[in-house]
Amino acid sequence: MSDIIQLLPDHVANQIAAGEVVQRPASVVKELLENAIDADATSIKLLIKDAGKSLIQVIDNGKGMSETDARLSFERHATSKIRCAEDLFQLNTKGFRGEALASIAAIAHVELKTKQEQQELGSHLKIEGSEIMLQDVISTSKGTSIAVKNLFYNIPARRNFLKSNQVETRHIIDEFQRVVLVHPTISFSLYHNENEVYRLNNCNLRQRIVAVLGKKTNEKLIPINEKTDVLELTGFVSKPEYSKKKRGEQFFFVNQRFIKNPYLHHAIVSAFDGLLSSGYHPSYFLYLTVPTNTIDINIHPTKTEVKFDNEKILYAIIRSTVKHSLGQYSVAPAIDFNRDATLDTPYNFKNKKIYSEPKIEVNRDFNPFKNDHKVTAFPYSKNQDWESLYVDIKAPISEIRNIEVKHEIIESNLFDSDRVSSKTFQIHGKYIISTIKSGVIFINQNLAHQRILYEEFLETITVKEAMSQQLLFPLDIHFSKDDVQMIREIQGDLESTGFLFDRIEDETIIVKGIPTTINESQVTIIIEQLLDDIKNEIPDASFSQLDVMAKSMAKSLAIKNGAYLSKEEQENIVEHLFACKESNHSPFGKPTFISMETKDIDKKFEL
Ligand code: ADP
Ligand code: MG
Repeated sequence: MSDIIQLLPDHVANQIAAGEVVQRPASVVKELLENAIDADATSIKLLIKDAGKSLIQVIDNGKGMSETDARLSFERHATSKIRCAEDLFQLNTKGFRGEALASIAAIAHVELKTKQEQQELGSHLKIEGSEIMLQDVISTSKGTSIAVKNLFYNIPARRNFLKSNQVETRHIIDEFQRVVLVHPTISFSLYHNENEVYRLNNCNLRQRIVAVLGKKTNEKLIPINEKTDVLELTGFVSKPEYSKKKRGEQFFFVNQRFIKNPYLHHAIVSAFDGLLSSGYHPSYFLYLTVPTNTIDINIHPTKTEVKFDNEKILYAIIRSTVKHSLGQYSVAPAIDFNRDATLDTPYNFKNKKIYSEPKIEVNRDFNPFKNDHKVTAFPYSKNQDWESLYVDIKAPISEIRNIEVKHEIIESNLFDSDRVSSKTFQIHGKYIISTIKSGVIFINQNLAHQRILYEEFLETITVKEAMSQQLLFPLDIHFSKDDVQMIREIQGDLESTGFLFDRIEDETIIVKGIPTTINESQVTIIIEQLLDDIKNEIPDASFSQLDVMAKSMAKSLAIKNGAYLSKEEQENIVEHLFACKESNHSPFGKPTFISMETKDIDKKFEL
């Protein structure tokens, strides 16, 4: 048989490569803008016509190209940015594959004008479908202008596949934003069909974000700053109350590249757990810097994905950094209580010894035959102030002092000045009505209690040492084998909440101690609920697991709607709710209360 394998001619190879690099006009925009940045331009202009279908032009004031380089730049694998394979792990430029210009020139009409500073005259080049049509000298200013016309003129299938001008323009603007948001010190402008869409002057990061996304953005931003051995994280997240129904403004950059990474996206979003109503998305502009040798950018032709060496660690640090900043800045509830923004988050995970043995406290009054639902349903009732539950804690003095300070500040702040009367009413067995200076609030007892318990559990789990009550008769509880396996995995976490196990066997667990905050009859249901919740979450970081646990227990134990509450219990809910860090949402993001201002009530009476 004769040989049948042939090498593809260059222009065909280029066209095939173009399929990967250039999907639509926006891809050309990205490549050309990145080239201008790599050329150290300080001012970059983007001109678009017909959503890029007839013209995409980028004009920069960068270092330009010599005559030979101008010609070579359109060859495949022609790059000035790397020289050997090792350079792939020390990348400081956006480009390095040397295929963008070759690909673009294979599927469009391209015109290049470029001049280096010291040159008298610049180079002028016209290429159509990889073929050089013209090469001469030209009088031009320092820098480079590349005009790409009639994109996909020789691939009708591709051209027909393009979406409406509106959609393609949106893609171009997305790419433009992703570039300009990382380079605030470079001036950019964008013109579409000769209309100015953006003019962005050299500024700082915050100003750039505001210039791109609108003036209103400024008040929404919470700064993020963290520096450790493995990463530097800067940027902003939106205050939870400004979260959006649409997922729009989420920008994550790694070493100055816009990157899509669902795993780290989850780290950011889950830091908002309990702060967002369901269906709402936070905005974020986060800039992660990691050592260049710990990532691989070369796994995708358009470089929008990267591989990290230590994704798990990054996940945990990003999540806790964002959570921490939210805790510091986002403490102003919707109503007019003034909270102290300097309060730190109570979820002081870092300071807790990881595997401390829970303290055992034997409940001498414990009577297994007495079914005291009421006390369990609401552990703060009667004169049992909830803080007194902790008097036996043998925590370091500093921790105890911290906790006391917190309550002192919040309570004096909230209740001396703002609560005009301590009267509360319960209606329909589910709402507590209370007055505040500016009007009335309606609190849902179940959601409010979930929030109170959630924060209390988180604090117990992460800051304090858990207290356990020993059971007179250990409980045998049966589960399926895989559930028992899961319990084994979270045994340490369960113990940090106060559970104590005698044995965890094949299909049985034997519980000998339970947290002081729960009742023996609730143990099975709590653990079942917890397993269920863990299966439905992504327990990536250990913190996330503890968070699920705190939420789950809060949900199981909160007083239900329909339960009658004494005056004292109502009062307790109100006070403890507003002593919470995030009093306005349940741990699952539902509002815990709504408020009605007196002036709005006045309006109804036409006063
Ligand atoms: P890469 O960016 O991966 O190197 P490209 O095909 O995008 O590959 O560009 C090829 C080369 O052309 C670049 O390495 C650079 O030397 C040169 N080049 C492209 N655009 C510009 C520009 N705007 N200014 C100066 N040089 C440029
Ligand atoms: Mg490039």
